[in-house]
Amino acid sequence: MQAKQATACWDEAPCGLLVTDREGRVLAANARIEDWLGRSSLAGKHFADLLTPAAHAFYHWHVAVSVERHHQGDEIQLALATHDERSLPVLGGFRTAEYVGQACVHWSLSPVPFRSDLEGALIAACEAAEAALHEKQLAIDELQRLQAELEAHRHELSRQNRRLEVRAYSDELTRLKNRRAFSEALTERIRVGPAGGPFALALLDIDLFKTINDTLGHAAGDKVLAELAMLMQRAFRDQDLLFRIGGEEFAIMLPEASPEQALRAIERFCQALREHAWSVAAVTVSGGIANHQPGDGSDSLYRRADDALYAAKHDGRDRVLHASRLGMEPAPAR
Ligand code: GH3
Ligand code: MG
Ligand code: MG
Repeated sequence: MQAKQATACWDEAPCGLLVTDREGRVLAANARIEDWLGRSSLAGKHFADLLTPAAHAFYHWHVAVSVERHHQGDEIQLALATHDERSLPVLGGFRTAEYVGQACVHWSLSPVPFRSDLEGALIAACEAAEAALHEKQLAIDELQRLQAELEAHRHELSRQNRRLEVRAYSDELTRLKNRRAFSEALTERIRVGPAGGPFALALLDIDLFKTINDTLGHAAGDKVLAELAMLMQRAFRDQDLLFRIGGEEFAIMLPEASPEQALRAIERFCQALREHAWSVAAVTVSGGIANHQPGDGSDSLYRRADDALYAAKHDGRDRVLHASRLGMEPAPAR
């Protein structure tokens, strides 16, 4: 090939061609590179000075060391700085060789704008995805915090509800269950019917309680009521349900109690009251008992127990009568 043709090939090559010495000073550059950079006569300049500031730094950290240590290098990402201060990303490769007794470095530089754009787009997409992920994590954290807060509120609410429920169904003075609890428990027990087994209802009323209030005062009367409730809790079984259903009126639901068992339990309690060393004033009670009969509703059962209580009062107080005494139920065996 003629020297002229060789020069034409060198200039027309589809990539930038450059020859530098080992220190990076340009010995020759083809016309392609000069076109890209918009500068001519690059000879004598330093290769690093043809690069953007970032590529310049990269050249000194990494590329110059690589040239120093190796005979060849490929796929080195650099960026040329054009005369109008744009960046032209190139992929470079080098080979070291001897030329006229001088150690030279032959460079080829291929523009990679597309790849660079793609990388840029990928990096942007990655950054956007990372930002979105971060936002999502923040949202999840916030959601979890709100959920925990909601759970705490819910917990507190159900605690308050339970407290309100206990209050709504209990008598403050005696701590026994109140009249509302009694109505609901009785209705429920009647709903279960004979399948629930034998069941007795006892109504108790303090005898001549008004005189306690009248002579000792209302506060003393309250103490007597509380003391009586305490004695009730001590006397009856765990499954017996105790209620204060009125001022000095009490009800006891005795599950699994036959008429005779119920009568015995209440009489035992009356005896305990007679023997108790009362702190303020001694009281007695009168009681009426009815046992659940087939076909009973809460009203009929209650009425029989109340009638028995009335009869006990009428008979002289401090006694217990079973509804069977009124001829309304089979007589309990004694
Ligand atoms: P009986 O033997 O006929 O039942 O006579 P009693 O005096 O017990 O009956 P009465 O119904 O005449 O009186 C009940 C009294 O109970 C009247 C009321 O002042 C009193 N009382 C009702 N509730 C309370 C209360 O919460 N505290 C106090 N200290 N007294 C109450
Ligand atoms: Mg009364
Ligand atoms: Mg009374």
